Amino acid sequence: MNIGLTPPDSQVRCGTCRRLLFCAEPDAIAAAIRIKCPRCKALNILRPDRAPTIERPARQTERRDACPPRRPPDP
Ligand SMILES: [Zn+2]
Repeated sequence: MNIGLTPPDSQVRCGTCRRLLFCAEPDAIAAAIRIKCPRCKALNILRPDRAPTIERPARQTERRDACPPRRPPDP
Protein backbone atom coordinates (compact mmCIF):
# COMPACT_ATOMS: atom_id res chain seq x y z
CA MET A 1 0.00 0.00 0.00
CA ASN A 2 1.60 3.16 -1.18
CA ILE A 3 0.17 6.41 0.05
CA GLY A 4 2.42 8.34 -2.27
CA LEU A 5 3.28 11.19 0.01
CA THR A 6 6.89 10.34 0.52
CA PRO A 7 8.68 9.33 -2.62
CA PRO A 8 12.29 8.47 -1.91
CA ASP A 9 13.64 11.66 -3.43
CA SER A 10 11.62 13.77 -1.02
CA GLN A 11 13.53 12.59 2.00
CA VAL A 12 15.78 15.33 3.23
CA ARG A 13 18.79 13.92 4.94
CA CYS A 14 21.61 15.45 6.87
CA GLY A 15 24.46 16.27 4.56
CA THR A 16 26.97 15.12 7.12
CA CYS A 17 25.67 11.93 8.67
CA ARG A 18 22.79 11.17 6.32
CA ARG A 19 20.29 11.06 9.11
CA LEU A 20 16.76 11.54 7.86
CA LEU A 21 15.68 15.03 8.83
CA PHE A 22 12.23 15.25 7.31
CA CYS A 23 10.18 14.40 4.30
CA ALA A 24 8.62 16.93 1.99
CA GLU A 25 7.46 17.18 -1.52
CA PRO A 26 10.02 18.70 -3.86
CA ASP A 27 7.96 21.86 -4.23
CA ALA A 28 7.28 22.18 -0.54
CA ILE A 29 10.39 24.19 0.11
CA ALA A 30 9.76 27.73 -1.02
CA ALA A 31 12.53 29.43 0.86
CA ALA A 32 15.61 28.60 2.80
CA ILE A 33 15.19 26.23 5.68
CA ARG A 34 17.67 25.80 8.45
CA ILE A 35 17.46 22.63 10.40
CA LYS A 36 19.96 21.32 12.87
CA CYS A 37 20.69 17.66 12.74
CA PRO A 38 19.83 16.10 16.08
CA ARG A 39 22.55 13.55 15.68
CA CYS A 40 25.67 15.39 14.57
CA LYS A 41 24.45 18.94 15.27
CA ALA A 42 25.32 20.05 11.78
CA LEU A 43 23.21 22.90 10.55
CA ASN A 44 21.68 21.97 7.23
CA ILE A 45 20.56 24.90 5.13
CA LEU A 46 18.07 23.86 2.53
CA ARG A 47 17.22 25.99 -0.41
CA PRO A 48 14.72 25.01 -3.06
CA ASP A 49 17.11 25.53 -5.93
CA ARG A 50 20.29 24.29 -4.34
CA ALA A 51 21.67 21.21 -2.82
CA PRO A 52 21.82 21.26 0.95
CA THR A 53 24.75 23.11 2.32
CA ILE A 54 26.28 22.38 5.64
CA GLU A 55 27.38 24.82 8.21
CA ARG A 56 29.10 23.24 11.10
CA PRO A 57 28.10 24.71 14.41
CA ALA A 58 30.51 27.13 15.90
CA ARG A 59 32.02 24.97 18.52
CA GLN A 60 33.31 26.62 21.59
CA THR A 61 36.90 26.07 20.74
CA GLU A 62 37.80 29.69 21.13
CA ARG A 63 38.96 29.65 24.64
CA ARG A 64 39.27 32.85 26.47
CA ASP A 65 42.22 31.74 28.44
CA ALA A 66 44.51 33.13 25.80
CA CYS A 67 45.40 36.07 27.93
CA PRO A 68 48.60 37.85 27.10
CA PRO A 69 51.45 36.83 29.33
CA ARG A 70 52.02 39.12 32.20
CA ARG A 71 55.07 41.21 31.92
CA PRO A 72 56.75 43.08 34.68
CA PRO A 73 56.13 46.79 34.38
CA ASP A 74 58.84 48.68 32.68
CA PRO A 75 60.92 50.74 35.08
ZN1 LIG B 1 23.82 14.84 10.87
